[in-house]
Amino acid sequence: MKFARFSYHGRTHTGVIRQGEIAVLSGSLFTHFEETGESYALSDIKFLPPTVPTKVVCIGLNYYEHIEEIGAQVPEKPIYFLKPPSSLIGHESAILYPKGAERVDYEGELAIVIKKKMKDVPEHKTMEYVLGLSCFNDVTERALVSKNPLLLTLSKGFDTFGPIGPYLVTDLDPNNLNIRTYLNGRLMQEGNTKNCVFNVQQILHHLSTWMTLLPGDIVATGTPKGIAPMKPGDVVEVEIEGIGKLRNRVE
Ligand code: MG
Repeated sequence: MKFARFSYHGRTHTGVIRQGEIAVLSGSLFTHFEETGESYALSDIKFLPPTVPTKVVCIGLNYYEHIEEIGAQVPEKPIYFLKPPSSLIGHESAILYPKGAERVDYEGELAIVIKKKMKDVPEHKTMEYVLGLSCFNDVTERALVSKNPLLLTLSKGFDTFGPIGPYLVTDLDPNNLNIRTYLNGRLMQEGNTKNCVFNVQQILHHLSTWMTLLPGDIVATGTPKGIAPMKPGDVVEVEIEGIGKLRNRVE
């Protein structure tokens, strides 16, 4: 199923996509929900991030060709960092170019949304803890982190540096999905999640031994090769097979 969180006339709702419209739900995607009978045209809603997480966990260096392009080593275990939830924006919201920034890159990524509290979960059980998948853009001020690796959180954590959406999609195999990033309509990144160093089950297993993941938490699974900078006025799109296309303008 394909879900979205959105606002309509100032009220926040969750809905399910039906024949080009969005049907409003009551209850919670994490426990129990039902349709209210109301529905809206997709063109009338404002998309919000599909979840409100306690944390956004980002995996780095997870595609072989991207590791090569930045001259890094293949990690032995997943490498992660955190982005503040305040960095999240929805589909069609603007990425704000920070004052004084020198190089702001897109990173198209597959995002996992956690369904239930997860601690010390073996690999073969991890998918029971996944609510669904979404498109993510791990926007990065590359110049800062190139100068000093300790500035990673600053470089990744600016407001609006975490576009996610438009949809949260359930019942997809996360380990064989085509992912593409477009800048002003031009194809910039093209990969498949089957070419990751660590698959989703391995990532979630390791993370759950290091921290407790909570319902709604987001795990972004790394970017394929082809990173490049954006400038104000550019439009960036992250498209994942079976999920949709996340579009944001840089302002
Ligand atoms: Mg990334």
